Amino acid sequence: MVLTLIIVLVVVVVLAGSSALLVGSRLRGRRRLGEERERPIARPPMRPQQRRGPGVAPPLVTAPPSPPEQQTPPAEALAAPPKEAAPPKEAAPPAEAPPLPAAFTEEEEPPAEAPPSAPAPPPVVGGPGAPAPEAPPAPAPPRRPRFRDRLAKARSALASQLAGVRGRSRLDDEAWDELEEALILADVGVETSATLLEQLKKRAAEERFESPEQLVAALREQLVERLEGDRELHWAGPGAVTVWLFVGVNGVGKTTTIGKVAMREIAGGRQVVMAAGDTFRAAAADQLQLWSERVGAGFVRGNEGGDPGAVVFDAVQHAKARGVPLVLADTAGRLHTKVNLMEELKKVRRVADRPPGSVREVLLVIDATTGQNGLVQARQFTDAVGVTGVVLTKLDGTAKGGIAVAIASELGVPIKLVGLGEGPEDLVPFDAQEFVDALLG
Ligand code: GDP
Repeated sequence: MVLTLIIVLVVVVVLAGSSALLVGSRLRGRRRLGEERERPIARPPMRPQQRRGPGVAPPLVTAPPSPPEQQTPPAEALAAPPKEAAPPKEAAPPAEAPPLPAAFTEEEEPPAEAPPSAPAPPPVVGGPGAPAPEAPPAPAPPRRPRFRDRLAKARSALASQLAGVRGRSRLDDEAWDELEEALILADVGVETSATLLEQLKKRAAEERFESPEQLVAALREQLVERLEGDRELHWAGPGAVTVWLFVGVNGVGKTTTIGKVAMREIAGGRQVVMAAGDTFRAAAADQLQLWSERVGAGFVRGNEGGDPGAVVFDAVQHAKARGVPLVLADTAGRLHTKVNLMEELKKVRRVADRPPGSVREVLLVIDATTGQNGLVQARQFTDAVGVTGVVLTKLDGTAKGGIAVAIASELGVPIKLVGLGEGPEDLVPFDAQEFVDALLG
């Protein structure tokens, strides 16, 4: 009996042990299977170009991805890429390819499995369906100078004059006296300053100004209003040759201005003939000739001491014969106080106005640094030849920008162009708001 019991017990223990071994081995097997399922499949990571198909350069990481149709820029875009735009992707040199984003390097491409570093494929140029090769970048257009940058001298002079007015706690008589002094010192002129103050006092009373800042704001508005005017340079009708006459005393920048205007017109696609109408100075004609060669304009000159009217007449004929629409005519400027110079200019104007010539602008060039003297000259020329506009040169060199206000107010002639420096791009259309902002800060 006891023996039977022992035998039964031994059989049970043996059976239990073998089933436990079976279960354990199954469990181990399953765990191994699970581990294998969880383990990443070891495979070489895809390089960016493999992801996007052959022949496409790596994407720029800093820019949002482009849709496929945008990856090949149109021919025009390649010919003149915008200055700030990213370079066309096809032309990006391999060495400049941006680094892979962190997401690629850390998660999808663990360093241990990264392929040996291979150079990026060369840019695809040429071949069927390939993008057009990149054109050399277009030269940057000349930067237009800003009034604010070039009027620093005039601004600091006026600012120190106006500091007294601005520093007052209220608008008393002394504040008005200080404002008048500031305007006269800035070359606004006695007459213009007086009328400006009159208008400002009226407005201050009506609108109950309390602070000097309100007064300065009103001054800003009045100045802009006085400087507004027709800035356009006018053209004759079809079939006629437009003539723009340049008048003014020697040294103001007449020749330089003609050269700069010619450059602007030629850049705008219009051909130009220059007429060396200052026959008194051979040097002036030589200088103009240099400009004509530099900018690619036609050029007509006469004998020294010859008839300036005949030179302008010849220039109009020359332009007409070649289908050139514009003559820019220089004139003498040495004797502005003498009656005979003014008579001479009148004659030049009459001759230039004979068909096919048509004088559409008589531009008086004034040097801003000459101050009120410029205003005296302006009156004489305006009376003699009917000035249609003023070119105010050397504004960059004057501490008295107020002369512009005096010219516009007292002569009623608009300022059309201003010189902000000696460079060819420094002659710009006048802008009243920009000018006043630059002056008052
Ligand atoms: P013109 O005798 O009236 O023909 O005067 P020029 O054209 O020969 O110019 C006289 C000088 O003034 C030259 O040295 C020019 O470079 C210079 N000039 C002309 N316009 C400007 C300007 O807007 N700013 C500066 N700083 N100089 C100018």
